[in-house]
Amino acid sequence: MSSSQINPPPRLLMGPGPINADPRVLRAMSAQLVGQYDPSMTGYMNEVMELYRGVFKTTNDATLLVDGTSRAGIEAALISLIEPGAKVLVPIFGRFGHLLKEIAVRAGAEVAVREKAWGQVFTPEEIEQAILEEQPALLALVQGDTSTTMNQPLQDIGAICRAHGVLFYTDVTASLAGNEFRADDWGIDAVTAGLQKCLGGPSGSAPISLSERAVQVIRSRRHVEEGIADGTQGRGRRIASNYFDLAMILDYWGPQRLNHHTEATSMLYGARECARLLLEEGIDAAITRHQLHGAAMLAGVQGLGLNVFGDIAHKMNNVVAVHIPDGIDGDAARQAMLEDFGIEIGTSFGPLHGKVWRIGTMGYNARKDAVLLTLAALEQVLRAGGADLTPGGGVGAATEVYQDATAQGSPR
Ligand SMILES: *Cc1c(COP(=O)(O)O)cnc(C)c1O
Repeated sequence: MSSSQINPPPRLLMGPGPINADPRVLRAMSAQLVGQYDPSMTGYMNEVMELYRGVFKTTNDATLLVDGTSRAGIEAALISLIEPGAKVLVPIFGRFGHLLKEIAVRAGAEVAVREKAWGQVFTPEEIEQAILEEQPALLALVQGDTSTTMNQPLQDIGAICRAHGVLFYTDVTASLAGNEFRADDWGIDAVTAGLQKCLGGPSGSAPISLSERAVQVIRSRRHVEEGIADGTQGRGRRIASNYFDLAMILDYWGPQRLNHHTEATSMLYGARECARLLLEEGIDAAITRHQLHGAAMLAGVQGLGLNVFGDIAHKMNNVVAVHIPDGIDGDAARQAMLEDFGIEIGTSFGPLHGKVWRIGTMGYNARKDAVLLTLAALEQVLRAGGADLTPGGGVGAATEVYQDATAQGSPR
């Protein structure tokens, strides 16, 4: 067997994630390791906590990283918050709602679901009605679901949950930094994310923040040494995972620094730089940037004559889904985008499989050059596939969006 040094082909990743990492994040990740309890390392951990309080817009003490991809954060939150037998309500409007349901079932919850047709979101009234009917201990709800590109409004849900004594968990992996999110103002008890969408990093670290109410629930399930030894203490209530036991992870990140896992140092360097980049730009400016390039991509695909999937009024800023035109082979077109232009766009899952492409404009790739290149390439691929298009219609429509923004004095 022979192998050569890693040398991936140059690609522009314009799918629903992952996207190209910001070079600053890659540089941070190449820094040398230090020991787990080296004062510089514990200092970096404290900085990461403070940086992600800024990112999530929270004062939650319990703001840290779970090591693993975004679903590690989801699993840690759900398995630590859900006591076996507890009722959990999951409103599902796409693939990641189904994932929350599956993880809640594995955590031993009695799960109730409500489902929306793909391409739509829930109203606060619908969620409140479901809460009244089901009386759950926990509501688990995705914010941006890349499978449908929809962005579920969350701002009124926290108050509803408080009024009914329900804990509120949300997965903001796909939406954070590209769409508004405010953990404290919106009454969020637990929130998890990942780096590979609008934060401009690689997957492999899951920022998480927990309200004091959530921390109390988790700490009440903390198993003492004797409990582990004789198997009695906390039986039935003990968190059913060691790796994802947030009570232990909190003790590791807290002032006691009780040993748990070895922190994934290089990922922590990367996560730290992602947050620094975002806060340096300003969260509002980053959202405006995602709005601008998302609007340009939307106008561009429409300029190519493509039909957009879903309720555009609730579309995330950072991803658009378009119907694959009749007569075009969706997989062959994606392959031509990759082979001829080095550009990756996304396929789809479930009910949308084979019907739509998903095109992202997120993080480091929420840029004018990336948008215009993708539209120019897509036009060529569609024409080669036999589509009858106005030449330059995609780039032209996107350019108009940029010109309007410049006229209005919008940055970038
Ligand atoms: C992309 C995405 C994830 C990704 O999870 P990974 O474990 O990092 O693959 C999770 N949740 C949502 C809503 C997403 O869009």
